[in-house]
Amino acid sequence: MDANTIRFLVFMGVFLLMLVLESWIPRHPRVDSKPRRLAINLGLTGVDILVVRVFFGAAAVGAARLAEVGGWGVLNLVQLPSWIEFLIPVVFLDFMIYVQHVVVHMVPLFWRFHVVHHSDLDLDVSSGLRFHPVEILGSMLYKIGIIFALGPSPLSVLVFEAILNGMAQFSHSNIALPEGLDRALRWAVVTPDMHRIHHSIEVKETNSNFGFNLSIWDRLLGTYIPDAQKLQPEIVIGVEGYRKPEDVGFWSLLMMPVRRIPLVYTNAP
Ligand SMILES: [Zn+2]
Ligand SMILES: [Zn+2]
Repeated sequence: MDANTIRFLVFMGVFLLMLVLESWIPRHPRVDSKPRRLAINLGLTGVDILVVRVFFGAAAVGAARLAEVGGWGVLNLVQLPSWIEFLIPVVFLDFMIYVQHVVVHMVPLFWRFHVVHHSDLDLDVSSGLRFHPVEILGSMLYKIGIIFALGPSPLSVLVFEAILNGMAQFSHSNIALPEGLDRALRWAVVTPDMHRIHHSIEVKETNSNFGFNLSIWDRLLGTYIPDAQKLQPEIVIGVEGYRKPEDVGFWSLLMMPVRRIPLVYTNAP
């Protein structure tokens, strides 16, 4: 099986599992129509996939193969035990995704694109796919740059991407986990309740809990908020300025970066 098939199978498996769990044990009441949001978020994903395919082909794993053949990057220059060489990229790339997420919140130009992700009025597994194509392109370039500098094995990049993909779907899902399980999981990974705080309309809460996979970066760097001001089911999801379903239709999302953006959120976290 090639990298794209594995990625697709992991994605579909987790996506369907989360959809079932969301209808079985929902955590947060809906304000917008789920079929409508699913169509918009999946439509945007379709555009993202097309854009990445057109510009990058095999993208991240391909970049790792190139680096391997060319002997580029730190890990292709040093000799380390193979399990360490495997583990370093999986953890380091996660940290760099955390850094990227903080930066796209702080720099107004980048926030113009990232706000598309935050404009969803409800949060569910499909929100984890809702990104402006330009942000997806930027992320891809950023990731490829890191891969060239680091020189990870193609397998470690594949595993990293599968984990990130699966965890982003889990952390965006609208599922109610038992409180004790949520708190226990949070010591290692980002849970749905933890990431929902990041999607709160409150500026201070939006500018917290930036992790997608490992929760350690938020704890270490002081951006962790354990609880929102409101109870979880009462958190208002979204951003100021885009409060109605008609504000966040498919074309509105594509055009959002050139519209009036709620820049109050780009104050330092
Ligand atoms: Zn964000
Ligand atoms: Zn999110």
